[in-house]
Amino acid sequence: MKFETKAIHGGQQHEPSTGAVSMPIYQTSTFAQTAPGVHKGYEYSRSGNPTRTALEKAFASLENGAHGFAFASGIAAVDCVLKLLKPGDEVLTTNDIYGGSFRIFTQVFERYNIKFQFIKHDDVHKMDQYFTDNTKLIWIETPSNPLLNLVDIKKITSLAKPKNILVAVDNTFATPYLQRPLDLGADIVMHSATKYLGGHSDVILGGLIVKDKNLTDELYFIQKSCGAIAGPMDSFLVLRGIKTLHLRMECHCSNAKELAHFLKAHSKVDNVYWPGFKTHPNHVIAKSQMKDFGGMVSFTLKNNQLSSTLKILEGLSLFTVGESLGGVESLCSHPVSMSHASVPKKDRDSVGIVDSLIRVSVGIENIEDLIADLDQALDLI
Ligand SMILES: *Cc1c(COP(=O)(O)O)cnc(C)c1O
Repeated sequence: MKFETKAIHGGQQHEPSTGAVSMPIYQTSTFAQTAPGVHKGYEYSRSGNPTRTALEKAFASLENGAHGFAFASGIAAVDCVLKLLKPGDEVLTTNDIYGGSFRIFTQVFERYNIKFQFIKHDDVHKMDQYFTDNTKLIWIETPSNPLLNLVDIKKITSLAKPKNILVAVDNTFATPYLQRPLDLGADIVMHSATKYLGGHSDVILGGLIVKDKNLTDELYFIQKSCGAIAGPMDSFLVLRGIKTLHLRMECHCSNAKELAHFLKAHSKVDNVYWPGFKTHPNHVIAKSQMKDFGGMVSFTLKNNQLSSTLKILEGLSLFTVGESLGGVESLCSHPVSMSHASVPKKDRDSVGIVDSLIRVSVGIENIEDLIADLDQALDLI
């Protein structure tokens, strides 16, 4: 089955008792048993709920996995992966991962004596030099936030496999429409479905997808035991979002491409970060592992003034200024004062997160309207 068909039908059959075409929201905590232990496959909604099951099957179908898991948030999904580890284990990751992942790694799991090493982007593809006997997990995010660096998933999995190190990929920015890490050798795919999978900025939800049977059993045990499950209503919203994922992603990608070219040609704009440019340092990786270049674009100003940046952000009318990404509406964020505010200035500057950096989650509005809005805002400085 092709992706577009899976997006509509994956994990979803007509509801057997009534024929409902749309997956019902099974808003129930428990299920009747005709005799103790005799039931129709569901006992209690923490261990399983039909609406969640449909979403979990849809996740697995889209990522070419065997099993999917749905959680209360993307971070709850990260938490579940980390609970595969034990004290003394080591995790290798990169220094440009999502801030919330960085926080749970360093401020929660380091307390349990799990060690994290944050590798500079330049060294990512030589990650094996950091392997020790205790390295148990590699965590990668590609493309990364906000500078859209890419990691070669196949390369990393080929380094990790001989050492039995698990590779988990945060596939939030790319979505399974553009990139399927399990096909490239990864063991675990993680999603913040809050972003493109949900797609309408109306739900917080996370996902994990795996192929391996043992990993499935372990993750299911943790999901059920720790309990950060997705609720039925939220599962329904993401199922509904997924049905148009392919159409939305096509539009996000084509709008992002036009916006990136507009910005690149603008006299006040300095760097434009978008993996579709031939000059992007990871363009070749993008072409080999992604179907298209995604809906995210970041840029900086030639004058690199904080005041000019704020003037632009305040002068926009179609772009909402806010956290998050991946919704149908265009959003702009200012990493220096929002997602990366707690990172010291010299550390930010050294990786390119400068005062004038603006990150755009390009929505699916008409592109001429979006460009006109950005153009008038750039005229304000
Ligand atoms: C938002 C996000 C997360 C966290 O997901 P929540 O749903 O907000 O918990 C993790 N990784 C990336 C790349 C994200 O953008």
